[in-house]
Amino acid sequence: MISTEPLYEITPSDQAREYAGGVRVRLVRAGWFRPDAGGFFGVVPKPLWSRMVETDERGRVLCRLNLLLVEAGGKRLLLETGTGERMSEKELDIKGVEGGQPATALRELGEDPESIDFVIVSHLHYDHAGGMVDAAGDPLFPRARYVVQRDEVEAARGDELRLQGIMEAEQLDRIRTTGQLAEVHGDVEIVPGVSVLRTGGHTRGSQAVLLGTRPAPGQEGEPLPRAILFGDLIPTRWQLPVRWTSAYDDYPVDAVEIRNQLLGQVVGGRWWCYFTHDPGAMPIQLERTEKGGIRAAE
Ligand SMILES: [Zn+2]
Repeated sequence: MISTEPLYEITPSDQAREYAGGVRVRLVRAGWFRPDAGGFFGVVPKPLWSRMVETDERGRVLCRLNLLLVEAGGKRLLLETGTGERMSEKELDIKGVEGGQPATALRELGEDPESIDFVIVSHLHYDHAGGMVDAAGDPLFPRARYVVQRDEVEAARGDELRLQGIMEAEQLDRIRTTGQLAEVHGDVEIVPGVSVLRTGGHTRGSQAVLLGTRPAPGQEGEPLPRAILFGDLIPTRWQLPVRWTSAYDDYPVDAVEIRNQLLGQVVGGRWWCYFTHDPGAMPIQLERTEKGGIRAAE
């Protein structure tokens, strides 16, 4: 399966989406990767997921590495960092990575990595946190503070056998050494109109990012335009059914509960959705099916 679209693409500035409080969002397509379909769809039987998704000759699904470039409160934020430049040839081949370098993506498109004030990674897996540093291991965004949930930092530092070699612990150490790590806990506003929300589920300290200011108390009537990036709690629109957890979810029981709760909020508030690995057009809105499920709105 060969991707025919450009490796790096960014929404032009004049087509940025705007959410409540003047939060401007541009989608950055930072390359491709190909997760194993069995792992990606976890407990879901192949006859169900294969109606929507094709696999290549090695049983992999073609997915994008999606980042968001956000301007809010006079600051610039990059959400997610792709795979970076430190993977071996063997890993690149197995995981089918093409591109994945966030600074290259930004520079090719006329944006300067030095202009980034905050980098937010949803969690510390290679395809989200690998691009926090450059090939030499130095922070790729020299002025940025890197926002990671405290629970995720603890998981990466811990001694659980399942996580060894899976979390980007070395990258995290480099960011901490330069004083650029900003550990947060729970639901935290980073700049006005951009908040992180600890979800857990996928990893211990996974976080979603909410875009657009909240309605003032007493003014909850007409929903303000807001958006969410789910992290890998929901990596593509294919995984919208709440029980469709992946084999990469460390806490699938929690993942189902938080997905159910968040998707209810998303539909109720008519939030726009961005997905970390979806190759399709974004953002999209969601709606309830007749049976009470969730699907992409037409
Ligand atoms: Zn991922």
